[in-house]
Amino acid sequence: MLRHLTRKLRASGPVTVAEYMREALTNPGQGYYTRRGGVGESGDFITSPEISQVFGECENSPQKLSPEFDLAHSGVIWFHSGLISRSEDWLNPVLSDALLIGVWYISEWMAMGKPSALQLVELGPGRGTLTEDILRVFKQLSSVLSKCDVSVHLVEVSPKLSEIQAVLLTGGKVQPSPEDESAYMKGISKTGIPIFWYRDIQDVPPGYSFYLAHEFFDALPIHKFQRTEKGWREVLVDIDPQVPDQLRFVLSPSRTPATQNFIQPEETRDHVEVCPEAGVIVQRLASRIEKDGGAALVADYGHDGTKTDTFRGFRNHQLHDVLSAPGTADLTADVDFSYLRKMAQGKTATLGPIKQREFLKNMGIDLRLQVLLQNSGDTATREQLLHSYDMLMNPEKMGDCFNFFALLPHHRLVHPDKKDKPESKSPLPPVAGFNELLLK
Ligand code: SAH
Repeated sequence: MLRHLTRKLRASGPVTVAEYMREALTNPGQGYYTRRGGVGESGDFITSPEISQVFGECENSPQKLSPEFDLAHSGVIWFHSGLISRSEDWLNPVLSDALLIGVWYISEWMAMGKPSALQLVELGPGRGTLTEDILRVFKQLSSVLSKCDVSVHLVEVSPKLSEIQAVLLTGGKVQPSPEDESAYMKGISKTGIPIFWYRDIQDVPPGYSFYLAHEFFDALPIHKFQRTEKGWREVLVDIDPQVPDQLRFVLSPSRTPATQNFIQPEETRDHVEVCPEAGVIVQRLASRIEKDGGAALVADYGHDGTKTDTFRGFRNHQLHDVLSAPGTADLTADVDFSYLRKMAQGKTATLGPIKQREFLKNMGIDLRLQVLLQNSGDTATREQLLHSYDMLMNPEKMGDCFNFFALLPHHRLVHPDKKDKPESKSPLPPVAGFNELLLK
C-alpha cells in the first residue's frame, strides 16, 4: 500500500486526506477493511456490540409474551416493567447496546402504527454482531411482529467482512445474486429472515425502513482544513523529501475545490474536518425516510460542530500514526453531527446528538442491569455485567464520547408549541431514548 501511494504521489503530487483515507481503508486490493477487517477482540478495535460478544452470548429459550404486552402504550417502560414483573430474562443475560437498539426500532415501529413490512438496513455492519443481536430481539418479540414482513439489508463494501457476516447470520448459506439484481449476495438468517447485501445505500430497494449506522460514519473519508493568514487551506498528504518512504502532511499553496465547497461561511474554528460522503449518505437517508417512512439511528464517536483535530489511527488496540503503514491500521475521525443535521436539509426531523450514557439510561439500561443482576447467581456473570455496564456508561469510557442521533419523519414528533396545550395533545408516544424515562 505504501509503495502504491508513494508511486502515485510522485507521479501526480499530494492528495487530500480524504483520498488518502479512502485508499488506506477501502482500496479494493490493499485497504484495511477490504483486506482484513480488523473489527473485534482480536482485531484493532472493539466496537460496543462486540463488548457483549467478548463475554459470550448465551441464548435463553424464547418466552411467550402475555397478550396485554404492548410496547406502543408506554414504549420502553412497558418493555422493562414487563420484564421486571415477570422477573424473567427472556433476552440474553448480557448487557449490550444492540439489544436496546433493537427495542428502540420496535417501539418506533409500534408508534408509527405497525406498518405491514419493515426493512432493517445496516450501513457497515462489521462482523454482523449488531444485526445478529437485533434479529434476536425481533425473534423474542415475534408475537409483536407476527404480522410484519421483516427483511434485512446490509450495505458493506468489504468482501472479507461480508463473508464473516454471512457466516454469523446465515451459517454461510448465501448465494451470489445474478448481475441484474441490485444486491450482490443474498441468504436467509438463522431465524428465517431474508438478508441481502449491497455496496451502496442507493441499491437498497425503497420501502419503510429502519436504518442503522453504528460506528460507520467515523470510517468515511474526511477533508481537513486550516485557516491561515491567506485564507482557508486544505491539509494534504505528500512524500517527506527528507526521509524515503515516509509520508507527511503539507498545506495546499492555494484554495482547493474542497475549501471552496465544504467550509461554511459562518465557521469559527481554525481547524476543521468535513466528511462530504457522510453528508451525501445522510441526504439519501433523509430523502428515503421522507418518502417511504421509517427512521435512522446514527451511533458514533462525535461532537456537535465543536472539535477540530480528531483524525486518528488504531492498530492492535493502540493509537497509531495515521501516516505510517497505511492499510494496516483503522483510520477514523469523530462525526460532526451538526454537519449531518445540516445535510438532512429539513427533509426529516433530527434528534440528538445525545450521549450514549443518557440514551441508554433513557432506554432503561439501569432496570435491565438490576434484573440481570437479580437473576444471575454466579459472581463471574455479575462481574461481567458490571464491567459491560461500566464500558458503555462510564463518562471516561464510551458514556460521554459516544453519541446517538436520529432522523425521523416530521409527523413523528409533536410540535413544541403544541406540547402544553391539551386540546392539541398528540396521541404519539415520545421517541424512546431521546426522552427521559419516567417510571410510573
Ligand atoms: N457497525 C459495526 C462495524 C463498524 S466498522 C460495529 O459497530 O461494530 C465500519 C464498517 O463500515 C465496516 O464494516 C466497513 O467495511 C464498512 N465500510 C467502510 N466504508 C464503507 C463504505 N464506503 N460503504 C459501505 N461500508 C463501508
